Amino acid sequence: MTRDLFRKYDSLEKLAAARQEELERDIFSTGFYHHKAKNIIACAKALLERHGGEVPSDIESLTALPGVGRKTANVVRGNVYGIPSVVVDTHVGRIARRLGLSTNDDPVKVEFDLMEKIPEDHWILINLDLIALGRSLCRSQRPDCEACFLKEECPSRGKASGSGKKQLAGAGK
Ligand code: SF4
Repeated sequence: MTRDLFRKYDSLEKLAAARQEELERDIFSTGFYHHKAKNIIACAKALLERHGGEVPSDIESLTALPGVGRKTANVVRGNVYGIPSVVVDTHVGRIARRLGLSTNDDPVKVEFDLMEKIPEDHWILINLDLIALGRSLCRSQRPDCEACFLKEECPSRGKASGSGKKQLAGAGK
């Protein structure tokens, strides 16, 4: 979808001037297209008006942009600017709790727990590593603990299912 999107709107100016209904059709396949189209247009305008058409790298400026939360801001910081940043999505939160790296449910608190426990030079890649683990072995339902290379260290081995919240009592000690 992005290939066609960026071909059609090949500048921030074009995105900022886009008609919302038309942009909604262009991004329809991604779901939540109404809110996304609204935010994309508002974000393009904000980048032009407040940042001279450049994407900022500091967390405050990024999260002040329409539609940009802490997760997206950290993706941009890590992947665009190479600034050590921990991205917490549903896989990362669940596995962090199962491994006892966090006892928190709030993604921002999980982010700070991981920053405390994981060396800074692993912050950017830990997200991709945990997502890969979450999609292959440490799935939300019925994780394959017997095949998991972390089974000897993991406090949730054989007990995990769901978001990891039930493992909080025993994990992280
Ligand atoms: S041992 Fe099980 S719960 Fe622990 S990380 Fe591996 S798959 Fe997940």
